[in-house]
Amino acid sequence: MRGLILLDLDETLVDREAVLRVWADEVATAAGEPSIAEWLIAHDRQDGKVRQRESFLSGVAGRLGWDTPVEDLLANWPNMFGSRYRLEPAVSEALTHARTLGFRLCVVSNGDAQRQRAKVEAMNLENLVHACVISGEIGVRKPSRRIFEIAAQRAGADLTGDVWVIGDDPVADIGGAAQIGAHGLWVNRNGRDWPSELPPPHATFSQPVAAMEHITAG
Ligand SMILES: [Mg+2]
Repeated sequence: MRGLILLDLDETLVDREAVLRVWADEVATAAGEPSIAEWLIAHDRQDGKVRQRESFLSGVAGRLGWDTPVEDLLANWPNMFGSRYRLEPAVSEALTHARTLGFRLCVVSNGDAQRQRAKVEAMNLENLVHACVISGEIGVRKPSRRIFEIAAQRAGADLTGDVWVIGDDPVADIGGAAQIGAHGLWVNRNGRDWPSELPPPHATFSQPVAAMEHITAG
């Protein structure tokens, strides 16, 4: 075994913003109100974070005049949104390449079990990595050390060897890496500033493939 690579999902392996944009454009077109797409995208976030889905969908229903109960929209959200997730071919190739070289790979995602599972299935991720661990399924979230221990175990590895965490979240992913003594590789797709109050990542990349190459070429 060459080492263990722990990978975040949203905004790391997949550009969630791009998936959201496609969904918003479709909803706006169906509503006959193209200009509403920008509102939908803005409404996705609250105070810089992804808004609670119940609050998001209740706002969307109100704005679009949908009369479907929010709990039904919420139940259907994994199908409406997560099923659209696709891996870019270059990302699939990078994962396959690392696996061929003898790295163990595990996706570690914070989020609701059903929503994240829908994404994992849509991307066929379980055939590309050794395991996928979702916080909503195990009751522990990044940056807790415990979720990384479970991920390592499910991938047939442990945290004592060479470990890398690739992710976009400075606290959950890069802070989590620091907690387990791993190299935190920050994926910064949108050119954000690193929060100055936090210890810096081991390295920064604008795309996940570059982070994977950093590891596999090392
Ligand atoms: Mg993320």
